[in-house]
Amino acid sequence: MNYYITTPLYYVNDEPHIGHVYTTVAADCLARYKRMSGCRTFFLTGTDEHGQKVAEAASKKQCQPQELADRMAAVYSELWSQLEISYDRFFRTTEPEHEKVVQTVFTRLLQQGDIYRGEYQGWYCVHEENYVTPVLENSQRLCPDCRRPVREVAEPSYFFRLSAYQEKVRQHILTYPDFVQPDFRRNEVLSFLSQGLLDLSVTRKNVSWGIPSPTPERYPVYVWFDALLNYLTGVGYLCQEETFTAFWPPSVQLIGKDIIRFHHIIWPAILMTLNLPLPEKIFAHGWWLVNRDKMSKSLGNVVSPRDVLKEYGSSAFRFFLLREVPFGLDGEYSETNFCKRYNSDLANDLGNLVNRTLNLVEKKCGGRIPEGQVEEVNRLTEEVQSLFREKMERLAYSEAIETVWRLVIHLNKFLDEKAPWRYQGEQAGRLLRPVVEGIRRVALFLSPFIPAACRDIYKMLGLQTDPAAGNWKDLFSPLPAGQNLGPRFILFPRRPP
Ligand SMILES: [Zn+2]
Repeated sequence: MNYYITTPLYYVNDEPHIGHVYTTVAADCLARYKRMSGCRTFFLTGTDEHGQKVAEAASKKQCQPQELADRMAAVYSELWSQLEISYDRFFRTTEPEHEKVVQTVFTRLLQQGDIYRGEYQGWYCVHEENYVTPVLENSQRLCPDCRRPVREVAEPSYFFRLSAYQEKVRQHILTYPDFVQPDFRRNEVLSFLSQGLLDLSVTRKNVSWGIPSPTPERYPVYVWFDALLNYLTGVGYLCQEETFTAFWPPSVQLIGKDIIRFHHIIWPAILMTLNLPLPEKIFAHGWWLVNRDKMSKSLGNVVSPRDVLKEYGSSAFRFFLLREVPFGLDGEYSETNFCKRYNSDLANDLGNLVNRTLNLVEKKCGGRIPEGQVEEVNRLTEEVQSLFREKMERLAYSEAIETVWRLVIHLNKFLDEKAPWRYQGEQAGRLLRPVVEGIRRVALFLSPFIPAACRDIYKMLGLQTDPAAGNWKDLFSPLPAGQNLGPRFILFPRRPP
């Protein structure tokens, strides 16, 4: 089965923040899980590089917008490599083939009458790059979303006939409950639809940096329209038909809850005009808050992903994001929560299990994998596996980890009760064998979540393979008895709280 998964494109005018990391890590975990389930997977992420904000930022830095975009695209891709993000394609909206796709789609919609020429009169927020209905505060007109002053504009523009798709989008959402996820977001989208949709302006007369529209005026295409089409170009639409046919439509698109309208309303409407099948699932996750506030530059409470990575490494960072909060809800980010989760789950439960077990194998079995029975671990593995897969299919990451923890807890308890340190030779080995075997399975289960740490566990067990390259069938292929352990080290050193 083929599986196509996407994150939104990240805007090159923004420094990467924890929200970007969250979406990308969640998508990566799912992509890895699907690959290990035997699916042919295409995982798309990338950068959104057009728009007035990029042009203005570049001119402040006295460089070309393309140079700024190049620099920031490199910042993102470097961060993704540090976080072990296994994307299949890093897409950039300034790639030449994307320009061709955007213009072809635009032309087709013009010909069909789904895009028409009109006049926009109203207010514009430069920050959002969007026409807005301002709110009045202290006799100043402010953007309703970001509270920055807005500009009055009156300009010719091309409009996407979004209003004509209101009922079709509504019907689709009602017919396919998986389309808007989590469930509780559906009513939010439906209530927005019931207020009525206005046609959407898809060109910007006064923006200098964008894809020229195929119109006599060549006004640049509105960044959001341009960016949404990346999900098509990125998988080969009009460019690599074979890839496109294999993977379209998206199986899962992950987004933050702030971009629901674009993805649950405008995006399906665009696909309807192109007669393309709609994504199976578009899942909106929550925000990471600091003291219940959204992280923002102006509040000065932004957590830098690079600092967290430097301090804790990729595994601990990925683990915290996916374990701490049920996917879909908001979460509270704090150093205290992070450290607590790290010490209890990673240093104590998992790290200590690996450490004390392998120490005992060294001492009691000469550092070789011992002989012994593993029926009990097999039984528990089967149980955990079926629950784990059910939870992963629902993107219930946190619950999936909890399920694996049943195995971790069982193994720790088994060690405590059977006390293999009291025995010698084969007798000690027989008690250690199921624990060593259990540890290997834990590493396989957790590999989509914390790939680097699981690779290390495999190495310490003396295995030459990467669990991420494996398959769920490997759960039941036992470690060869007599094999030497690899070099060992402390996986997750305990942190002072
Ligand atoms: Zn704004």
